Amino acid sequence: MKEKTDMMKHYLTVKERYPDCIVFYRLGDFYEMFFDDAVEASAILELTLTGRNCGEKERAPMCGVPYHAADEYIAKLVANGKKVAICEQLSDPKASKGLVDRDVIRVVTGGTIAEDKFVDERKNNYILCAYLIGGVCSIAWADITTGEFSCQKLSDKNGIFDALSRINPAEIICNNAFYGEYNAFPEAVKVSFERISRYDEKAFDGRRASAVLCEQFALSDLSVFSPEENQLALTCAGALIAYLKETQMHALANVKNLSFYDEGKFLRLDSTAVRNLEIVSSMRDGKIFGTLLWAVDKTRTSGGSRRLRQILLSPLRDKKKIEYRQCGVEDLFNDNVSREAVSETLKSVKDLSRLCGRISNGILSPRDCLAIMQTLDAVPSLRFRLGLMQSEIIRNIFDNLIDFSELANLIRAIINDNPPILTRDGGFVRDGFDERLDHFRSIERNARAIIKEMEERERSSTGIRTLKIGYNKVFGYYIEVSKSFVDQVPYTYIRKQTLVGGERYITEELKQFEEEVLSSNENIVRIENEIFKKLTGVLTDNLDGLMKLAKALSLLDVLCSFATVARENDYVRPTIVASDKPMNIVEGRHPVVEKNKKIRFVSNDTYLDCGENSMMIITGPNMAGKSTYMRQVALITLLAHTGSFVPAKEAEIPITDRIFTRVGASDNIMFDQSTFMVEMSEVANVLRNATASSLVILDEVGRGTSTHDGLAIAWAVVEYLTVENKVKTLFATHFHELSELENSLEGVKNYKITVKETDGEIVFLRKIKRGSANKSFGIEVASLSGVPKAVTEKAKVVLHSLEKNDLALKAVEIEEETESNEKRYSFVEDYLNELDLNNVTPLKAFEILNFLKGKTNG
Ligand code: ADP
Ligand code: MG
Repeated sequence: MKEKTDMMKHYLTVKERYPDCIVFYRLGDFYEMFFDDAVEASAILELTLTGRNCGEKERAPMCGVPYHAADEYIAKLVANGKKVAICEQLSDPKASKGLVDRDVIRVVTGGTIAEDKFVDERKNNYILCAYLIGGVCSIAWADITTGEFSCQKLSDKNGIFDALSRINPAEIICNNAFYGEYNAFPEAVKVSFERISRYDEKAFDGRRASAVLCEQFALSDLSVFSPEENQLALTCAGALIAYLKETQMHALANVKNLSFYDEGKFLRLDSTAVRNLEIVSSMRDGKIFGTLLWAVDKTRTSGGSRRLRQILLSPLRDKKKIEYRQCGVEDLFNDNVSREAVSETLKSVKDLSRLCGRISNGILSPRDCLAIMQTLDAVPSLRFRLGLMQSEIIRNIFDNLIDFSELANLIRAIINDNPPILTRDGGFVRDGFDERLDHFRSIERNARAIIKEMEERERSSTGIRTLKIGYNKVFGYYIEVSKSFVDQVPYTYIRKQTLVGGERYITEELKQFEEEVLSSNENIVRIENEIFKKLTGVLTDNLDGLMKLAKALSLLDVLCSFATVARENDYVRPTIVASDKPMNIVEGRHPVVEKNKKIRFVSNDTYLDCGENSMMIITGPNMAGKSTYMRQVALITLLAHTGSFVPAKEAEIPITDRIFTRVGASDNIMFDQSTFMVEMSEVANVLRNATASSLVILDEVGRGTSTHDGLAIAWAVVEYLTVENKVKTLFATHFHELSELENSLEGVKNYKITVKETDGEIVFLRKIKRGSANKSFGIEVASLSGVPKAVTEKAKVVLHSLEKNDLALKAVEIEEETESNEKRYSFVEDYLNELDLNNVTPLKAFEILNFLKGKTNG
């Protein structure tokens, strides 16, 4: 067998180092892929698969993409879950004689793709590292485009689902133990987070990880991060930095800080709540339209929009911190002129966080500089508008709106008004900024005029009328003299080329000029790049301040958005009260549904406390508005915790530790198998974790089939939540039998969403009232899993008694809910027909009814 070619040998050593990547191997103007990489990539990228002779008997499968269009192909591979290792030519192929130096300069992965056009500007692009050890899971996540970097130790097993739905990473790396655990995740979770890979176990070594962090933050030890308490989270963070350095191969200069996500400081939204409440993505198609974010996003900048998303997914749990934000919103809410001016000015603010990312990722372009300049230019007017506002948060923002006018002026002086995207060909430095540059540019621009002038001069000094100065690619500049004048040529002319009709010459002056012209272009590009390097140097020196400014601008944008939304939609500042105080909402509205122009939204009140009114049992026919009402209470609570105003006339909102939502299986389209199992294990999670400070929304739990099981479960769940958890709960149900609980259980209050029935037609009134609805909706079946024993035991007891008393309950209801005897008769008739007791006259039926009623009372 023949030796493999040297190039192929080198390729294989590279591939060996990056076995899990598709290697883009630079050959001339192409990136080539070989072997399995080629087969896989050609399928994804729709490229023709060819072959290359590599010394083996069989030719190596190969495919390639032109280097200037590589970005698009890389992005497509990454979007398909691949990692791409870019192996570049490091030495100039023209200059080097032997094998060209090549090595990997960067690995592009889903969580590290940094090019603007491939990441959503209104969303962070996070990479997350998960580390499981001894049953404890820690996570760290970063966005290299903005430099955000955080970590968290999860307090319980479900924490990972909640964290993943909050952070929504584009890529996950993890240690072996976590990977094992991940494989046991429910399918639905796995599908949404499929880009997961194991990372080198050694990176999770505590010592090694802290060394990596020390280096990143230029610290001698990690004492500022309380390493005793945070050891696992720090290890995880260190492993993530190691991975980023390994793939990005540069200093990650914008990753300057590590923040610790302290669960205790935030209202925890579990993954189901994030999904069901449609906070940032809709259940229908995962898009923003129709979500809470959609309804309250009036931000003007990408940075603001990303910050708003984070804030909605991490509501605060501290009264002081919430009020700190509220005061800022109020300042902007009250001052219409300033708010509108701020909002208008923010429109010219560019994505400064990501621009800072581009500075530190070394991919800043001249056009980016203009974007930075425009942003800096907006600052003085924002400072002017905020100057008189008193709230602490606005004062702090004001202090961080650092005036970088000098830097803006420097950019203005250097970069011209319409620069190219790339630095490669120059053409972006303003005329007049640099003398040398001006000189070379004038040579380039004036070359023709200079030649013309030289031609005139030579003609008159030699007296040769036909003398011409010309240029061609092979010989460069020349003076051409026709045959008849050759003897008049001065001795300073050096012959270069003989033609049929004449001779071509060169002179010292012309040669020098030629060199100047040819090198001037090179010089222009070189000088422009030198200047650009200096400018990026200055920007890098100011990175800290610029990043601080970016943060302040984003927060200002969010506060201004809250204030604008509050103004436009008539929101009110909620009063935040202690967690044991009642929740009281007057004329609350659903922030999203009320945006629907086709309906006239009907507002509703809510009163919940930890005592007599902790449990609202809500009944009403389909489409009455039960789900809308409950979600509106949850969304108002959530919004209140972000510092936003809320859609209501008045609101007192107690500090809430968690919001749980569960939607009955039949309403849930995410799952198709063992749906009831899922529903019940979710309910079990609520029962185990809800506290007196939580808010629970249960929508048609227990719905599914039609035996008494579902009702029995629902009944027991209500009891448990009221008695054991003492948690504020809204429970919408088809089981009108649950209304019975009001009489026996303190804390339960019945509500119904009213409808008007006239001549068989239903009119939805959308108003919630005390009392229970009068229609039975059928009882549905379920089997049970994971619910605490106390509940299942109770369920059995309830089931038993229900089966005995069903007729009795029905009778009472019919009696209470109907006014005229005639109506009663027909109800009873219907009911008995259902029971298959045909041939019973209305009169007879009424007798039966009275009989039954007597039995219940007696
Ligand atoms: P249910 O859960 O009782 O079946 P939904 O909450 O799904 O009913 O509401 C059905 C529809 O009724 C909603 O899509 C909305 O268009 C309308 N709706 C609900 N509540 C209100 C309200 N308060 N005011 C006006 N329309 C409402
Ligand atoms: Mg509903």
